[in-house]
Amino acid sequence: MKAHIVTLPGDGVGPEVTAAAVAVLQAVAEHYDHQFTFEEHLIGGCAIDASGEPLPAASLEACKKADAVLLGAVGGPKWSDPNAKVRPEQGLLALRAALGVYANLRPLQVHPALANLSPLKNEKLKDVDVLFVRELTGGAYFGAKTRTADAATDECRYTEAEIERVVRRAFALARERRHHLTSVDKANVLETSRLWRNVVQRIAPEYRDVKVEHQLVDSMAMLLLTQPGRYDVVVTENLFGDILTDEAAALAGSLGLLPSASLGDGKRGLYEPIHGSAPDIAGQGVANPTGAMLSAAMLLRHSLGLEEEAQCVEAAVSHVLAHGPRTRDVGGQGNTAAVRDAVLMAVEDHA
Ligand code: ATP
Ligand code: MG
Repeated sequence: MKAHIVTLPGDGVGPEVTAAAVAVLQAVAEHYDHQFTFEEHLIGGCAIDASGEPLPAASLEACKKADAVLLGAVGGPKWSDPNAKVRPEQGLLALRAALGVYANLRPLQVHPALANLSPLKNEKLKDVDVLFVRELTGGAYFGAKTRTADAATDECRYTEAEIERVVRRAFALARERRHHLTSVDKANVLETSRLWRNVVQRIAPEYRDVKVEHQLVDSMAMLLLTQPGRYDVVVTENLFGDILTDEAAALAGSLGLLPSASLGDGKRGLYEPIHGSAPDIAGQGVANPTGAMLSAAMLLRHSLGLEEEAQCVEAAVSHVLAHGPRTRDVGGQGNTAAVRDAVLMAVEDHA
Protein backbone atom coordinates (compact mmCIF):
# COMPACT_ATOMS: atom_id res chain seq x y z
CA MET A 1 0.00 0.00 0.00
CA LYS A 2 0.96 3.65 -0.35
CA ALA A 3 1.11 5.94 2.68
CA HIS A 4 2.34 9.46 3.25
CA ILE A 5 3.79 10.07 6.71
CA VAL A 6 4.70 13.47 8.14
CA THR A 7 7.43 13.46 10.76
CA LEU A 8 7.75 16.18 13.41
CA PRO A 9 10.99 15.29 15.23
CA GLY A 10 10.80 18.37 17.48
CA ASP A 11 13.28 19.06 20.25
CA GLY A 12 15.79 17.34 22.52
CA VAL A 13 15.92 13.59 21.93
CA GLY A 14 12.90 13.88 19.61
CA PRO A 15 14.99 13.81 16.39
CA GLU A 16 17.12 10.91 17.67
CA VAL A 17 14.21 8.61 18.48
CA THR A 18 12.11 9.68 15.49
CA ALA A 19 14.94 8.75 13.12
CA ALA A 20 14.94 5.24 14.61
CA ALA A 21 11.17 4.95 14.19
CA VAL A 22 11.40 6.08 10.56
CA ALA A 23 14.10 3.47 9.93
CA VAL A 24 11.75 0.80 11.28
CA LEU A 25 8.93 1.98 9.01
CA GLN A 26 11.30 1.94 6.04
CA ALA A 27 12.32 -1.61 6.87
CA VAL A 28 8.68 -2.64 7.09
CA ALA A 29 7.94 -0.98 3.75
CA GLU A 30 10.80 -2.85 2.14
CA HIS A 31 9.92 -6.26 3.53
CA TYR A 32 6.19 -6.09 2.97
CA ASP A 33 6.43 -4.21 -0.30
CA HIS A 34 4.69 -0.97 0.71
CA GLN A 35 5.45 2.54 -0.53
CA PHE A 36 5.81 4.91 2.41
CA THR A 37 6.85 8.50 1.75
CA PHE A 38 8.14 10.78 4.52
CA GLU A 39 8.01 14.55 4.85
CA GLU A 40 9.71 16.31 7.78
CA HIS A 41 8.42 19.50 9.45
CA LEU A 42 9.12 21.71 12.46
CA ILE A 43 7.21 21.84 15.73
CA GLY A 44 7.97 23.11 19.23
CA GLY A 45 11.10 24.96 20.27
CA CYS A 46 12.96 24.44 16.99
CA ALA A 47 9.96 25.91 15.17
CA ILE A 48 9.91 28.92 17.52
CA ASP A 49 13.59 29.48 16.76
CA ALA A 50 13.03 29.23 13.03
CA SER A 51 9.75 31.11 12.65
CA GLY A 52 8.61 32.51 15.99
CA GLU A 53 5.70 30.05 16.04
CA PRO A 54 5.50 26.67 17.80
CA LEU A 55 3.30 25.25 15.03
CA PRO A 56 4.06 26.92 11.69
CA ALA A 57 1.24 26.87 9.13
CA ALA A 58 3.32 24.71 6.78
CA SER A 59 3.66 22.03 9.46
CA LEU A 60 -0.05 21.98 10.21
CA GLU A 61 -1.04 21.92 6.53
CA ALA A 62 1.30 18.99 5.90
CA CYS A 63 -0.14 17.07 8.87
CA LYS A 64 -3.69 17.60 7.64
CA LYS A 65 -2.77 16.05 4.30
CA ALA A 66 -0.83 13.10 5.74
CA ASP A 67 -2.08 9.59 6.40
CA ALA A 68 -0.30 9.66 9.74
CA VAL A 69 1.96 11.91 11.79
CA LEU A 70 4.97 10.70 13.75
CA LEU A 71 6.14 13.10 16.46
CA GLY A 72 9.26 13.09 18.65
CA ALA A 73 9.01 15.50 21.57
CA VAL A 74 8.74 19.24 22.15
CA GLY A 75 10.24 21.58 24.71
CA GLY A 76 13.41 22.05 26.67
CA PRO A 77 15.15 24.45 29.05
CA LYS A 78 15.82 26.96 26.29
CA TRP A 79 12.10 27.66 25.91
CA SER A 80 10.86 26.87 29.41
CA ASP A 81 10.29 30.35 30.85
CA PRO A 82 6.67 29.99 32.06
CA ASN A 83 6.03 33.68 31.33
CA ALA A 84 7.19 33.48 27.73
CA LYS A 85 4.60 34.53 25.13
CA VAL A 86 5.07 31.41 23.04
CA ARG A 87 5.92 28.00 24.41
CA PRO A 88 6.73 24.76 22.54
CA GLU A 89 3.87 22.88 24.22
CA GLN A 90 1.37 25.26 22.62
CA GLY A 91 2.37 23.82 19.27
CA LEU A 92 1.49 20.32 20.36
CA LEU A 93 -1.83 21.33 21.93
CA ALA A 94 -2.75 23.25 18.79
CA LEU A 95 -1.84 20.29 16.60
CA ARG A 96 -3.96 17.86 18.64
CA ALA A 97 -6.91 20.24 18.49
CA ALA A 98 -6.52 20.93 14.76
CA LEU A 99 -6.29 17.24 13.90
CA GLY A 100 -9.26 16.47 16.18
CA VAL A 101 -7.40 13.60 17.83
CA TYR A 102 -9.47 13.33 20.98
CA ALA A 103 -8.55 9.81 22.09
CA ASN A 104 -5.01 9.24 23.33
CA LEU A 105 -4.22 5.52 23.59
CA ARG A 106 -1.38 4.53 25.88
CA PRO A 107 -0.79 0.81 26.28
CA LEU A 108 1.14 -0.39 29.31
CA GLN A 109 2.82 -3.76 29.57
CA VAL A 110 5.80 -4.79 31.62
CA HIS A 111 8.32 -6.71 29.57
CA PRO A 112 9.35 -9.84 31.53
CA ALA A 113 13.03 -9.14 30.84
CA LEU A 114 12.69 -5.72 32.48
CA ALA A 115 10.64 -6.74 35.53
CA ASN A 116 13.63 -6.04 37.77
CA LEU A 117 13.50 -2.35 36.73
CA SER A 118 9.90 -1.89 37.82
CA PRO A 119 9.33 -0.31 41.22
CA LEU A 120 6.76 -3.05 41.82
CA LYS A 121 8.12 -6.31 43.12
CA ASN A 122 5.05 -7.82 44.71
CA GLU A 123 2.61 -7.85 41.81
CA LYS A 124 2.70 -10.45 39.08
CA LEU A 125 4.06 -7.94 36.62
CA LYS A 126 3.55 -10.16 33.62
CA ASP A 127 -0.20 -9.82 34.20
CA VAL A 128 -0.06 -6.07 33.70
CA ASP A 129 -1.68 -5.24 30.37
CA VAL A 130 -3.57 -1.96 30.54
CA LEU A 131 -4.73 0.32 27.75
CA PHE A 132 -5.26 3.89 28.92
CA VAL A 133 -7.59 6.05 26.86
CA ARG A 134 -7.04 9.68 27.79
CA GLU A 135 -9.37 12.42 26.49
CA LEU A 136 -7.06 14.79 24.66
CA THR A 137 -8.85 17.86 23.34
CA GLY A 138 -10.95 19.12 26.27
CA GLY A 139 -10.88 19.84 29.97
CA ALA A 140 -8.60 22.24 31.82
CA TYR A 141 -5.99 22.21 29.04
CA PHE A 142 -8.31 24.00 26.66
CA GLY A 143 -10.64 25.93 28.98
CA ALA A 144 -10.53 29.68 29.55
CA LYS A 145 -7.64 30.88 31.68
CA THR A 146 -7.59 34.04 33.76
CA ARG A 147 -4.95 35.75 35.80
CA THR A 148 -5.24 38.77 38.07
CA ALA A 149 -2.71 40.23 40.48
CA ASP A 150 -3.25 37.58 43.12
CA ALA A 151 -5.45 34.87 41.60
CA ALA A 152 -5.72 32.53 38.61
CA THR A 153 -8.34 30.22 37.13
CA ASP A 154 -8.37 27.34 34.66
CA GLU A 155 -11.81 26.47 33.41
CA CYS A 156 -12.48 22.74 33.07
CA ARG A 157 -15.28 22.27 30.57
CA TYR A 158 -16.68 19.17 28.86
CA THR A 159 -19.69 18.73 26.64
CA GLU A 160 -21.65 15.47 26.57
CA ALA A 161 -20.60 14.97 22.96
CA GLU A 162 -16.91 15.31 23.83
CA ILE A 163 -17.24 12.73 26.58
CA GLU A 164 -19.38 10.37 24.56
CA ARG A 165 -17.03 10.07 21.60
CA VAL A 166 -14.00 9.14 23.70
CA VAL A 167 -15.98 6.82 25.97
CA ARG A 168 -17.41 5.03 22.93
CA ARG A 169 -13.89 4.56 21.59
CA ALA A 170 -12.88 3.07 24.95
CA PHE A 171 -15.86 0.68 24.97
CA ALA A 172 -14.99 -0.46 21.44
CA LEU A 173 -11.39 -1.09 22.47
CA ALA A 174 -12.52 -3.02 25.56
CA ARG A 175 -14.56 -5.25 23.26
CA GLU A 176 -11.42 -6.12 21.32
CA ARG A 177 -9.59 -6.92 24.55
CA ARG A 178 -10.77 -8.38 27.87
CA HIS A 179 -14.20 -6.70 28.04
CA HIS A 180 -13.48 -4.66 31.14
CA LEU A 181 -13.72 -0.85 31.18
CA THR A 182 -12.72 1.31 34.13
CA SER A 183 -13.92 4.91 33.98
CA VAL A 184 -11.95 7.30 36.18
CA ASP A 185 -13.40 10.56 37.48
CA LYS A 186 -13.81 12.70 40.58
CA ALA A 187 -17.60 12.59 40.67
CA ASN A 188 -17.77 13.23 44.42
CA VAL A 189 -16.39 16.75 43.87
CA LEU A 190 -16.42 17.89 40.24
CA GLU A 191 -19.42 18.68 38.07
CA THR A 192 -17.57 17.70 34.87
CA SER A 193 -16.93 14.33 36.50
CA ARG A 194 -20.60 13.86 37.34
CA LEU A 195 -21.44 14.54 33.70
CA TRP A 196 -18.68 12.13 32.67
CA ARG A 197 -20.10 9.38 34.87
CA ASN A 198 -23.65 10.03 33.64
CA VAL A 199 -22.52 9.64 30.03
CA VAL A 200 -20.72 6.37 30.77
CA GLN A 201 -23.81 5.03 32.58
CA ARG A 202 -26.11 6.11 29.74
CA ILE A 203 -24.19 4.35 26.98
CA ALA A 204 -23.08 1.28 28.96
CA PRO A 205 -26.27 -0.67 28.10
CA GLU A 206 -25.19 -0.59 24.44
CA TYR A 207 -22.09 -2.56 25.42
CA ARG A 208 -23.56 -5.21 27.73
CA ASP A 209 -20.66 -7.54 27.04
CA VAL A 210 -18.28 -5.01 28.66
CA LYS A 211 -18.07 -4.91 32.46
CA VAL A 212 -17.97 -1.28 33.61
CA GLU A 213 -16.34 -0.06 36.78
CA HIS A 214 -16.09 3.53 38.09
CA GLN A 215 -13.12 4.67 40.14
CA LEU A 216 -12.31 8.01 41.71
CA VAL A 217 -9.01 9.31 40.44
CA ASP A 218 -7.32 9.43 43.84
CA SER A 219 -8.27 5.85 44.51
CA MET A 220 -7.15 4.87 41.00
CA ALA A 221 -3.72 6.39 41.62
CA MET A 222 -3.33 3.98 44.51
CA LEU A 223 -4.86 0.94 42.79
CA LEU A 224 -2.47 1.30 39.86
CA LEU A 225 0.36 0.65 42.26
CA THR A 226 -1.31 -2.01 44.37
CA GLN A 227 -3.31 -3.99 41.79
CA PRO A 228 -2.25 -3.02 38.24
CA GLY A 229 -3.01 -6.52 36.97
CA ARG A 230 -6.74 -5.94 37.57
CA TYR A 231 -7.21 -3.41 34.78
CA ASP A 232 -7.94 -3.76 31.07
CA VAL A 233 -9.10 -0.47 29.45
CA VAL A 234 -9.04 2.69 31.59
CA VAL A 235 -10.76 5.80 30.24
CA THR A 236 -10.50 9.25 31.76
CA GLU A 237 -10.44 12.98 31.10
CA ASN A 238 -7.43 14.97 29.94
CA LEU A 239 -5.69 16.03 33.17
CA PHE A 240 -6.37 12.82 35.11
CA GLY A 241 -5.12 10.84 32.12
CA ASP A 242 -1.92 12.84 31.89
CA ILE A 243 -1.09 12.17 35.52
CA LEU A 244 -2.17 8.53 35.70
CA THR A 245 -0.31 7.55 32.54
CA ASP A 246 2.97 9.02 33.79
CA GLU A 247 2.46 7.03 36.97
CA ALA A 248 1.72 3.94 34.91
CA ALA A 249 4.80 4.52 32.77
CA ALA A 250 6.98 4.23 35.84
CA LEU A 251 5.68 0.69 36.30
CA ALA A 252 7.20 -0.33 32.97
CA GLY A 253 10.70 0.58 34.16
CA SER A 254 11.54 3.57 31.95
CA LEU A 255 9.71 6.45 30.34
CA GLY A 256 11.62 5.63 27.17
CA LEU A 257 9.67 2.41 26.60
CA LEU A 258 6.11 3.47 26.05
CA PRO A 259 4.29 4.54 22.88
CA SER A 260 1.08 6.44 22.30
CA ALA A 261 -1.45 6.99 19.56
CA SER A 262 -3.81 9.95 19.36
CA LEU A 263 -6.87 9.22 17.25
CA GLY A 264 -9.92 11.06 16.02
CA ASP A 265 -12.87 9.90 13.95
CA GLY A 266 -10.95 9.17 10.77
CA LYS A 267 -7.93 6.98 10.19
CA ARG A 268 -5.35 9.72 10.53
CA GLY A 269 -3.50 9.65 13.84
CA LEU A 270 -0.69 11.34 15.71
CA TYR A 271 1.91 8.95 17.12
CA GLU A 272 4.53 9.80 19.71
CA PRO A 273 6.49 8.20 22.52
CA ILE A 274 5.11 9.24 25.90
CA HIS A 275 8.42 10.65 27.11
CA GLY A 276 9.42 14.28 26.79
CA SER A 277 12.43 15.86 25.15
CA ALA A 278 14.80 14.50 27.85
CA PRO A 279 17.18 17.48 27.69
CA ASP A 280 19.56 15.83 30.17
CA ILE A 281 20.56 13.22 27.56
CA ALA A 282 19.75 15.02 24.30
CA GLY A 283 22.44 15.04 21.61
CA GLN A 284 24.37 12.13 23.10
CA GLY A 285 22.83 9.39 20.97
CA VAL A 286 21.84 7.37 24.03
CA ALA A 287 18.05 7.90 24.13
CA ASN A 288 15.95 4.78 24.22
CA PRO A 289 14.13 4.59 20.85
CA THR A 290 11.71 1.86 22.03
CA GLY A 291 8.75 4.15 22.74
CA ALA A 292 9.14 5.82 19.36
CA MET A 293 9.49 2.50 17.52
CA LEU A 294 6.42 1.08 19.27
CA SER A 295 4.58 4.28 18.30
CA ALA A 296 5.47 3.41 14.69
CA ALA A 297 3.88 -0.01 15.28
CA MET A 298 0.71 1.73 16.51
CA LEU A 299 0.80 3.89 13.37
CA LEU A 300 0.90 0.77 11.20
CA ARG A 301 -2.03 -0.72 13.13
CA HIS A 302 -4.37 2.23 13.61
CA SER A 303 -3.78 4.53 10.64
CA LEU A 304 -2.69 2.06 7.95
CA GLY A 305 -4.59 -1.05 9.08
CA LEU A 306 -1.40 -3.13 8.81
CA GLU A 307 -1.85 -5.44 11.81
CA GLU A 308 0.66 -8.09 10.74
CA GLU A 309 3.34 -5.45 10.17
CA ALA A 310 2.55 -3.85 13.54
CA GLN A 311 2.97 -7.18 15.28
CA CYS A 312 6.22 -7.78 13.42
CA VAL A 313 7.65 -4.52 14.81
CA GLU A 314 6.38 -5.31 18.31
CA ALA A 315 7.92 -8.78 18.19
CA ALA A 316 11.22 -7.34 16.97
CA VAL A 317 11.29 -4.74 19.77
CA SER A 318 10.41 -7.38 22.34
CA HIS A 319 13.18 -9.63 21.06
CA VAL A 320 15.74 -6.86 21.42
CA LEU A 321 14.54 -5.91 24.92
CA ALA A 322 15.03 -9.54 25.92
CA HIS A 323 18.39 -10.15 24.23
CA GLY A 324 19.93 -6.70 23.95
CA PRO A 325 21.47 -4.39 23.15
CA ARG A 326 19.79 -2.03 25.60
CA THR A 327 20.16 1.65 26.36
CA ARG A 328 21.29 2.93 29.76
CA ASP A 329 17.81 3.74 31.10
CA VAL A 330 16.99 0.02 30.94
CA GLY A 331 20.23 -1.19 32.39
CA GLY A 332 22.33 -1.55 29.23
CA GLN A 333 25.26 0.23 27.62
CA GLY A 334 24.06 0.35 24.04
CA ASN A 335 23.33 3.58 22.24
CA THR A 336 20.27 4.53 20.21
CA ALA A 337 21.84 3.36 16.95
CA ALA A 338 22.75 -0.06 18.35
CA VAL A 339 19.18 -0.67 19.53
CA ARG A 340 17.80 0.59 16.22
CA ASP A 341 20.05 -1.70 14.20
CA ALA A 342 19.18 -4.71 16.35
CA VAL A 343 15.47 -4.00 15.88
CA LEU A 344 15.95 -3.61 12.12
CA MET A 345 17.65 -7.01 12.00
CA ALA A 346 14.89 -8.56 14.08
CA VAL A 347 12.26 -7.07 11.73
CA GLU A 348 14.05 -8.80 8.88
CA ASP A 349 13.98 -12.10 10.77
CA HIS A 350 10.33 -11.80 11.71
CA ALA A 351 9.08 -10.48 8.40
P1 ATP B 1 7.95 16.74 29.38
O1 ATP B 1 7.76 17.90 30.27
O2 ATP B 1 8.35 17.10 27.99
O3 ATP B 1 6.85 15.74 29.43
P2 ATP B 1 9.32 15.27 31.33
O4 ATP B 1 9.58 16.25 32.41
O5 ATP B 1 8.20 14.33 31.48
O6 ATP B 1 9.24 16.02 29.94
P3 ATP B 1 11.30 13.70 30.04
O7 ATP B 1 11.88 14.62 29.05
O8 ATP B 1 10.38 12.66 29.53
O9 ATP B 1 10.67 14.51 31.21
O10 ATP B 1 12.47 13.02 30.86
C1 ATP B 1 12.31 12.53 32.19
C2 ATP B 1 13.48 11.62 32.50
O11 ATP B 1 13.36 10.42 31.74
C3 ATP B 1 14.83 12.22 32.14
O12 ATP B 1 15.81 11.87 33.08
C4 ATP B 1 15.14 11.61 30.80
O13 ATP B 1 16.51 11.48 30.54
C5 ATP B 1 14.47 10.24 30.90
N1 ATP B 1 14.03 9.82 29.56
C6 ATP B 1 12.97 10.30 28.89
N2 ATP B 1 12.89 9.75 27.68
C7 ATP B 1 13.92 8.89 27.58
C8 ATP B 1 14.39 8.02 26.55
N3 ATP B 1 13.77 7.92 25.37
N4 ATP B 1 15.50 7.29 26.80
C9 ATP B 1 16.13 7.38 27.97
N5 ATP B 1 15.74 8.17 28.97
C10 ATP B 1 14.65 8.93 28.79
MG1 MG C 1 6.02 14.56 31.10
